[in-house]
Amino acid sequence: MARKQPSLDLKNITMVQTMELDGCMRCGECAEWCPTYEGSGYLPGLSPRDKIYRWKRFVDRSFGISATLFGPKEISNEEFVQFKDDVHGCTTCGICATVCESGINTVELWEGMRANLVKRGVGPYGKQGTMPKIIGDTKNSYNEPKENRLIWIPKDVKIADKADILYFSGCTAGMKQTNLAVSTARVLNKLGVEFCMLGEEECCCGSVLIRTGQYFREDNLAKKLARTNVDNIKAKGAKIVLYACSGCFRASLVDWPRLLGEEVPFKVMHVTQFLAEKIDAGEIEWKQKPFGEDKTVTFHDPCHLGRHVGVYDEPRKVLNSMPGMNYVEMERCKSYQRCCGAGGGVKSGMPELALSIAKLRVGDAETVLYPEGETKTQTNVFAQACPFCKRNLSDGRDALKQGGDEKADIIIEDVVEISARALGLSPSKE
Ligand code: SF4
Ligand code: SF4
Repeated sequence: MARKQPSLDLKNITMVQTMELDGCMRCGECAEWCPTYEGSGYLPGLSPRDKIYRWKRFVDRSFGISATLFGPKEISNEEFVQFKDDVHGCTTCGICATVCESGINTVELWEGMRANLVKRGVGPYGKQGTMPKIIGDTKNSYNEPKENRLIWIPKDVKIADKADILYFSGCTAGMKQTNLAVSTARVLNKLGVEFCMLGEEECCCGSVLIRTGQYFREDNLAKKLARTNVDNIKAKGAKIVLYACSGCFRASLVDWPRLLGEEVPFKVMHVTQFLAEKIDAGEIEWKQKPFGEDKTVTFHDPCHLGRHVGVYDEPRKVLNSMPGMNYVEMERCKSYQRCCGAGGGVKSGMPELALSIAKLRVGDAETVLYPEGETKTQTNVFAQACPFCKRNLSDGRDALKQGGDEKADIIIEDVVEISARALGLSPSKE
């Protein structure tokens, strides 16, 4: 009689990741910190610890000693579908990896599980499944015609045809959160930094496909996008590529080299890193208080800028250097920050969960202890360095205000937009 085949396969899961499952001590520390578990009202399926345990059980039922001796135990489609729903209820924020005493690289694990499930035809989640077609057709994640990549550009902004520095705006800043692109371009112009862009030839960085486990779909679309972007950047002769979007920055720094199997032939920098270098070199002279009067400001570390690639100090250096900005730190900051709730496809797939987490994060920022451990201070400005974080935190702030939370009356702006104000520039096109 033919031997029964295991229900599970281990496509997109490495041997090391399978061994890591055994390293989980079930201590529950990850669950204490997980923003989606808390934001969902502690739905058991969303706990990172329980996801690891359930996947380990899948592996044991398929390949464990009992499965080897007596044949694998079936895993039903319902179990796979439920697991898919739960593993997509994760922003891939990475704090579970930060706090895990066993050193489990959970973000890589979640993304591997997602890709495995998508490959078996279970997943991704909801509207996330439309992304490969949209991005394949339009090369952006908003289903816009490619000429719309340029509509944010005001008449006063000067963009060179070729230059050593290239600004990669990304789909969100180029088409939706356009104040960020306007601010970046105006700040660079004001500082006398010549830069070029890819214009209509810029493609989605592929982050949304990679984070939701769909990078191989539509004929390896994420790899094709990375190849096209890298080749187009090379053709411009750029030596440094600047990103104000933390998602694109992370994709270029980590995902493009991995997908392409080679280092990218240019230096990848977040705009806040570039500005911090200019401050160190004494090349920035702020003209004014960004908001006309003194404000108390705090900073939200985007997961893709902070925990994923370790950029923490530069955005703080930029804010601290400006006049009229009294910088205060939230209790949950830097590597222990709470995610805004938008990443990992959660904003598109589970918008209510994303909003619930955003409200928690705005709550973190409303009042902070200042000076340390003494009085509670109302925060006026909640800065971040990613258009996706700004969008979700703004939604959270608005929802709290509508609910009558007066402390939620906070300005939410990107560090680069605030920099434009401090240089006497308008952060918006008008
Ligand atoms: S923190 Fe690490 S060891 Fe503890 S339950 Fe979570 S994954 Fe397992
Ligand atoms: S990556 Fe973040 S959202 Fe996902 S399971 Fe870990 S802590 Fe929760």
